[in-house]
Amino acid sequence: MTQRCGSRPHRRYGRWFARKPQTVVVQPTSFCNMGCFYCYLRDKGLKNDMLPATAAAVAESLAGLASIGHPLGLVWHGGEPLTLGTEKFSALLAPFETLRQDGRMHHYVQTNATLVTPAWCDLLEEFEFRVGVSIDGPAALNTQRVDLRGRPAFERIMRGVGLLRERGIPFSVIAVVGREGIGHPEELLDFVATLGCHSVGFNIEETEGVNTERRPPTRDQAEEFWRRVLAWSRSHRGPVIRELERISEYLSLARSGQKDDWDNRLLDPIPTVTWNGDVVLLSPELADTSDSAYADFLAGNVREKTIAHMLREAPHLRYVREFLTGLERCQAECEFFDFCRGAQAGNRYFENGSLATTETNYCRVSRQALVMALSTTAKKEQIA
Ligand code: SF4
Repeated sequence: MTQRCGSRPHRRYGRWFARKPQTVVVQPTSFCNMGCFYCYLRDKGLKNDMLPATAAAVAESLAGLASIGHPLGLVWHGGEPLTLGTEKFSALLAPFETLRQDGRMHHYVQTNATLVTPAWCDLLEEFEFRVGVSIDGPAALNTQRVDLRGRPAFERIMRGVGLLRERGIPFSVIAVVGREGIGHPEELLDFVATLGCHSVGFNIEETEGVNTERRPPTRDQAEEFWRRVLAWSRSHRGPVIRELERISEYLSLARSGQKDDWDNRLLDPIPTVTWNGDVVLLSPELADTSDSAYADFLAGNVREKTIAHMLREAPHLRYVREFLTGLERCQAECEFFDFCRGAQAGNRYFENGSLATTETNYCRVSRQALVMALSTTAKKEQIA
């Protein structure tokens, strides 16, 4: 299909999405060595590893997207990337070396840290990885993060974290907060503050992928959680808390009359490349999802066309068009839109069955509850 970039679908898409992504996610393998109870990945038991030729095709695509001065983030995010072993992983990294050394891209990896060894630390240092570790809190709050036999993984994660610390490799943390942890923000934060990470992001558990049976936290629980996170952050020194950082940035731009900077930010289409080169847009969680109504969310395969080409065709994909409708409805209808800017495509699909919808539990607990926590805290302080 020939695409005209000035056509109506392209203009509509261009009002919301950046022309070039800031982040590309790559799944080097579908396999994960853990069996976390809340995992959304359908194929995590299958040992499908990316071939170097597929990585080379991704690198070729990136060459057309990455510019000097705005390095693109290439996020290796599984399955569990470290299950590949250092030799196989090095072969996948080789095609990106010219781009990396020219300062046009950075590598990131999100890992459960259970497989970190001195050899992995060498690799992470050599390729200047930004490392993210997934851990949900101290042992008592990390109970949903287990290995394939259902055994607690806490000690193994901490061994990996210890190695990163010994080697002076900086890392961030992502903690999934489910019903087990939502009532314990102080324990969670006290623990995270001892880990030596530079930042932490709290992913309140989501209903997505194959994780459909568990009950996620409610908005009330989340509001209380964020209120206590805010209180903790005011009285403790600790890592940057991603969600508080985001809302602080919004408020400081609003206060200094620069809110246009916030309003004009375009969304990242976040191309996600699976182990076999298939690409989905908008949400990495859609990568493992079959649905003939949306042609399995595929934008193409990197071995057949470039990511830039797929992005030019994106305005014509059904699920992208539906998501744009959802965003337009959010803008017209939601009192939280100003801060939120319309959250995740994947959550709309998994929770509501259509991307043209608006509210999800995800946006209630991660965006609305955060704003409400801040606003009720501010009101209480005014009264006091
Ligand atoms: S809070 Fe939910 S409904 Fe409101 S703008 Fe964000 S995603 Fe849309």
